[in-house]
Amino acid sequence: MNCDKCQNPAVAHLRYSDIRLCKNHFIGLTTDRIRKTINKNKFFERGDRVAVAVSGGKDSIVTLRALHDISNKRGLEIVGVTIDEGIVGYRPESIEIAEKTYKELGVDYTILTYKDRVGKSLDKIMERPDISRACEYCGVFRRRLIEDGAREMGADKIATGHNLDDEAQSIFMNYTRSEFPRIARSGPKTANKEGFIPRVKPLCNIPEKEVGLYAILKGYEIHEDECPNVANAFRLNIRDHLNLIEDKYPGFKFGIYNSAENLRSILADINIEKNTLKKCEKCGQNTSGKICKFCELKANANKE
Ligand SMILES: [Zn+2]
Ligand SMILES: [Zn+2]
Repeated sequence: MNCDKCQNPAVAHLRYSDIRLCKNHFIGLTTDRIRKTINKNKFFERGDRVAVAVSGGKDSIVTLRALHDISNKRGLEIVGVTIDEGIVGYRPESIEIAEKTYKELGVDYTILTYKDRVGKSLDKIMERPDISRACEYCGVFRRRLIEDGAREMGADKIATGHNLDDEAQSIFMNYTRSEFPRIARSGPKTANKEGFIPRVKPLCNIPEKEVGLYAILKGYEIHEDECPNVANAFRLNIRDHLNLIEDKYPGFKFGIYNSAENLRSILADINIEKNTLKKCEKCGQNTSGKICKFCELKANANKE
């Protein structure tokens, strides 16, 4: 099978738009799509310091390198934030790749650990018999630590590596839990809100498989293992089912993504979030209750 744009052999078949692409055309198209997402959603302003959350996996490495590539021309300063949850046999290798990439690109970075910031590594937290949902704890802790790391690095924006599959899964999970404020808050770029650093997702409309292929074709060093805790997660089941449906109906994930984009514009009009944010009594961060989720779960993790 040859590329639809030239005579070279195709390396990718994008079934949702039925095009076949060679290595160069696939790389060109993907780079273009990332830049279009950045431009269309007005992610950055000149002079922005952008903290990229880097785990060392394909998504975050592609995000870091894509933003670094445009940083000179756009007047951006790129810094890195890496979170060490403390997962033996998994995280050390990925952090090594993150650090190697930071050094190669000459990017300043910080590494924050659960041990210092939460009081315990994730492995230690998971030893507790009263805690079983690793991803719930880990997601809340990681989000806060990325925010803290970015603030400590003086960042104006946070960029994360969420791809189309991540977005489709989150939207689907939020729908089924009636978490409409969450859907309103997410999307390619979070709104400017006091007390939060805006977050952007340059890969939000690139399917996960294509991010992986892009990283390989570009020759990027990436950490390929999956987190050992993911096997128990609800998200994993959603992922597998969405993949099955996508296989039968190419474009299904884009459909979910686009429906949420449309819903967000409706939710913005009715201002679904009004008066829902207060300050956490313990840490002072925005929250909808008295105590924020981070402080609640941190207390659980460290209970006597
Ligand atoms: Zn071609
Ligand atoms: Zn708090």
